[in-house]
Amino acid sequence: MTENEKKYIYADNAATTRMSQTAIDAMLPYMSEIFGNPSSLYTIGQKAKEALEEAREIVAAQLNASPKEIFFTSGGSEADNQAIRSAAIIGSKKGKKHIISTKFEHHAVLHTLAKLEKEGYEVTLLDVGSKGIVDPEAVRNAIREDTALVTIMYANNEIGTIQPIPQIGKICREKGVIFHTDAVQAAGHLHIDVKEQNIDMLSISAHKFHGPKGCGILFSKTGIPLSNLIEGGAQERGKRGGTENIPGIRGMAAALKEACENIDKNAAHLIPLRDKLIAGLDEIPYSELNGDRTNRLPSNVNFCFEGIEGESLLLLLDDKGISASSGSACTSGSLDPSHVLLAIGRPHEVAHGSLRLSLGEDTTEEEVDYMIRAVKDVVTYLRNMSPFWRDLTEGKRPHVFAE
Ligand SMILES: *Cc1c(COP(=O)(O)O)cnc(C)c1O
Repeated sequence: MTENEKKYIYADNAATTRMSQTAIDAMLPYMSEIFGNPSSLYTIGQKAKEALEEAREIVAAQLNASPKEIFFTSGGSEADNQAIRSAAIIGSKKGKKHIISTKFEHHAVLHTLAKLEKEGYEVTLLDVGSKGIVDPEAVRNAIREDTALVTIMYANNEIGTIQPIPQIGKICREKGVIFHTDAVQAAGHLHIDVKEQNIDMLSISAHKFHGPKGCGILFSKTGIPLSNLIEGGAQERGKRGGTENIPGIRGMAAALKEACENIDKNAAHLIPLRDKLIAGLDEIPYSELNGDRTNRLPSNVNFCFEGIEGESLLLLLDDKGISASSGSACTSGSLDPSHVLLAIGRPHEVAHGSLRLSLGEDTTEEEVDYMIRAVKDVVTYLRNMSPFWRDLTEGKRPHVFAE
């Protein structure tokens, strides 16, 4: 690859996205003219209050929820924490202290569950199989008399696999168990209908669909009493103290509406690019796609390469102008391999050599071609320097993948 071919490609849209102009434009008035506190009684306070409630209506409409079921939070992590804690408290009042989830949830869910275990709850983490998809029947079989909550993500943030949420929702509804889904990777990218899909609680984060960071949504069905994580004033109907982030909430509502209106159009653009990228990387010997080939987010490509160190791969790709990810942002920097890749059965040594490329609506075919060339070059370069790879080629270690 020649120097003048060098470009900048952002391929980490699962980590965060660039804000859309629609979102920025929706925020600006609430940072200047309409800066009032929605709790204030004078005009600019009340205008901010109206803007807040209008945003709630916009968000509710995208999910087929009622505005009073929408609670604004500081992001996906807070929404996950509040949903799970609330359901745990509801359960414990009825003597139910069992929670079902999966091995490959986001840490906002897994770490909350780990804390609840220390507080006396029992947690069952379901397997996700080699394709990274939960079997609804496994959920049914895991539900017990004392199950308080089932929490299963809508789409996985590392490998992009989409879970059978409507089927799981139906089972939970039949069994009378609260069903929460971390829909942070799905919202604005897949069609969500909380009624049709029998979802009781759902978490969303604005910065994963071109909205601002630090802004999220917890949907909680009428009749499910939320517990506070943050005590304070009567904001969010007493369920989340603190002056509302009106600019963020307006930006988030506008971004969600825009994303939801374009779900099919974006998927039609992204799926052929995703599949071209997968086909290109498939040509690299001793590599494998992670997660199901088609039942995955239109934007997600995730591979494991034998004999590669993920961190080196990222640094060399960065040199070629490509922003990508290995494991999740929260775990990179630590030496633990991704819990998601281990959950789908990847051995430690290949789990370390993973690469996630998450495309965006503005990704082009030319960029995909460039990424294929760049990854091939970098993988070859790194393997040529690796003593571990030499052992593999000399037969001193067994290969994990076929050539
Ligand atoms: C990004 C992400 C979160 C965390 O959302 P924040 O708004 O960054 O707190 C939670 N779950 C999943 C699946 C995510 O991808």
